[in-house]
Amino acid sequence: MTTVPTFLNYIDGEWCASRSGATFANLNPADTRDVVGHFQASDAADAKAAVLAAAKAFDAWKRLSMSARAKILIDAAAYLERHAQPFGEELTREEGKQKALAKDEFLRAAQTLRYYAVEAQSYGGETFPNDDAGMTVYTQREPLGVVTVISPWNFPVSIPARKIAPALVCGNTVVFKPASDAPLSGLRLTEAFVEAGIPKGVLNFVTGSASAVGPTLVGAREVRAISFTGSTTAGEQIHRAASMSTRTQMELGGKNPLIVLDARDIDRAVDLTVKGGFSLTGQACTGTSRVLVARDIRAVFVERLAAKTATLKVGNGMDTGTDIGPLATAGQLQTVLEYIEIGKREATLVCGGERLSHGPFANGFFVTPAIFCDVPRNARIAREEIFGPVIAVIDVDDYADAISVANDSDYGLAASLVTQDASLMHRFASDIEAGTVKINRTTTGNLVNAPFGGLKQSSTATFRESGRDGLEFYLQIKTVYRGV
Ligand code: NAP
Repeated sequence: MTTVPTFLNYIDGEWCASRSGATFANLNPADTRDVVGHFQASDAADAKAAVLAAAKAFDAWKRLSMSARAKILIDAAAYLERHAQPFGEELTREEGKQKALAKDEFLRAAQTLRYYAVEAQSYGGETFPNDDAGMTVYTQREPLGVVTVISPWNFPVSIPARKIAPALVCGNTVVFKPASDAPLSGLRLTEAFVEAGIPKGVLNFVTGSASAVGPTLVGAREVRAISFTGSTTAGEQIHRAASMSTRTQMELGGKNPLIVLDARDIDRAVDLTVKGGFSLTGQACTGTSRVLVARDIRAVFVERLAAKTATLKVGNGMDTGTDIGPLATAGQLQTVLEYIEIGKREATLVCGGERLSHGPFANGFFVTPAIFCDVPRNARIAREEIFGPVIAVIDVDDYADAISVANDSDYGLAASLVTQDASLMHRFASDIEAGTVKINRTTTGNLVNAPFGGLKQSSTATFRESGRDGLEFYLQIKTVYRGV
């Protein structure tokens, strides 16, 4: 029998247990008999210790040269690259995604660290012409102080990496709380920085439930900024709870449409819908969850979409050939099954939507990918984020009607138009209310070096994440008037 490891917090340069000694277990969603690990069930005292350690470390860290800070990111990236295979397998065990995708996620986190190590070096201030010959006016950007990073379970290493890397390289110190449903990948990211020689207190890692550690990580006087990715409900609570002098950046939910209007585009749209809607078991914030299809091509589109969906193999993410892994948690399974029942009352189930519980599925959270058609525009499955392998096909009359339906949403994260009509491509980019606009590509996916974020309830209307814009959140501007 293999023993289940217990993983620790990392606070003030030490791997340490929670003060209470309490732990919680994390289970493999493909087989809940497999316990991935025990993690520290931290409380407010642990969270406060982490915040104080980060506050204490700030002054020395911000004074370290940019190159020295960047070197730590580069060394941490190399560590992640060296261990991407085993760390990816752990990620599959804790979250369920296929092992190739999980390994890629570690490589992408490494790429993010390398990108920010370079990009931050040329992100400076401006000078301003003025009438006083003896005066130079310029801005300088400075780090904020302690930053709280809170991340979700669906990308448990690439999302915190795109927050922690710019925060650290800009000279901030960090307290990082991973999702309780996938804490091990976040621990590996922290370990990479530790192995790279990050000074004590600069990066702190605290596991524990949102209710136990959240209020301190959000409300502590020393916290100058909070970068959060997760549900709109939690993001809104955190944004409201933060003080006026604490910056917030909330990356939240989506209900992302893909639009197809022309018979010539059906096969491509089917392919993009399957990839964007069902990869990661539909658990991507930018996943395709609504397909807006011109009425006259809808029957053919649905028939081909169902045929392609039928070829997908549901299974354990560790098995080669698996297209769709389990849902990540028991809660996710319950929510998705509830929405499938709601969908059956609101619309027509074309295929899928079954819980699999026989043979190799007996101890996991497996559901077959579901497609609904005849979905009314005001149906709950057309409006609410489900965050699972469920696609609502909605009929539209034409381009204008498609834009009107697409924009009639509380969310505005990502949207895609499938078309060969060049005149529509640019129009779409202007007409659609989404922070990420795709043409002939999946709604999912974004570059490390380009800004990412949503409109409306998909993000706070503050700062973008990723790319050069992603640095701005972690810096404050001073304007200097220097006379001779
Ligand atoms: P979640 O339930 O909101 O949790 C996200 C993280 O926030 C977890 O670490 C959670 O801790 C913590 N948390 C929740 N409430 C908190 C509070 N009041 N104070 C402090 N921390 C709190 O979201 P999730 O289920 O992990 O992730 C799925 C959601 O994330 C979906 O809505 C998806 O669209 C969104 N998402 C958005 C993006 C984007 O970039 N826009 C990317 C990925 C995912 P515990 O785990 O301990 O509860």
